Amino acid sequence: MLMPKLYVLATPIGNLEDISQRALRILREVDFIVAEDTRVTKKLLFHFQIEKPLVSYHHHSSQKEVERLLNLLKEGKVVALVTDAGTPGISDPGGRLVAEVLKRSGENVQVIPIPGPNAAVTALSISSFPADKFLFLGFSPHKKGRKTFFQKVADSEYTVVFYESPHRIIKTLKEMSEHEELKNRQLVVARELTKKFETIYRGTASEILSEAGKELSKGELAIVVNTVIG
Ligand code: SAM
Repeated sequence: MLMPKLYVLATPIGNLEDISQRALRILREVDFIVAEDTRVTKKLLFHFQIEKPLVSYHHHSSQKEVERLLNLLKEGKVVALVTDAGTPGISDPGGRLVAEVLKRSGENVQVIPIPGPNAAVTALSISSFPADKFLFLGFSPHKKGRKTFFQKVADSEYTVVFYESPHRIIKTLKEMSEHEELKNRQLVVARELTKKFETIYRGTASEILSEAGKELSKGELAIVVNTVIG
């Protein structure tokens, strides 16, 4: 029997042209695709005229569902893991499945990365801020822990990148504009990267708030924070 394979495969963060040739070939070759949201992945597959059985795997997947996936691999199936956008495991449930597979099947499964887009690195690449080293903090916390989060941002000796929801962006920028050590920092707020309404805002938190206002609350956002005062 061939060794089972789990491809951890990056998909576009908006613009479908950003999928790699290799990713498309693998999606065409695998036996199953494990997807965070099968409706989102169905659209991607439909666009590229790929028909494959889909299995769902998300934050709330039960242990029974995880077992089902592990059994597919045990049967020698070749599986691709995709999430809704970007690189699986980066602030999405992909990482948990990779950990389960390695814990349970160890060296009997080949885990193969298929690299591609990632919102944090894309935002960083156009920030103009030092990116030879950086700190990625995922999403800012909803409620508890926000003070500690922003202090971590302020204390970092490296450029910081984090993700923000459109519901909280105004609140976040307000908090940053009132934070003694963050209010004069240069920021990049990258909205809807690679999509039709892609917009890059540059400036301090209060400058971006007055320039963009409510427009910020529409779409997906990644924030880059320079260590240098603007
Ligand atoms: N795994 C993904 C990656 O590699 O970037 C990230 C998944 S995380 C659940 C989704 C968050 O990433 C969004 O809420 C947003 O903060 C950020 N994001 C995803 N697509 C984006 C885009 N096109 N523009 C800006 N930020 C984006």
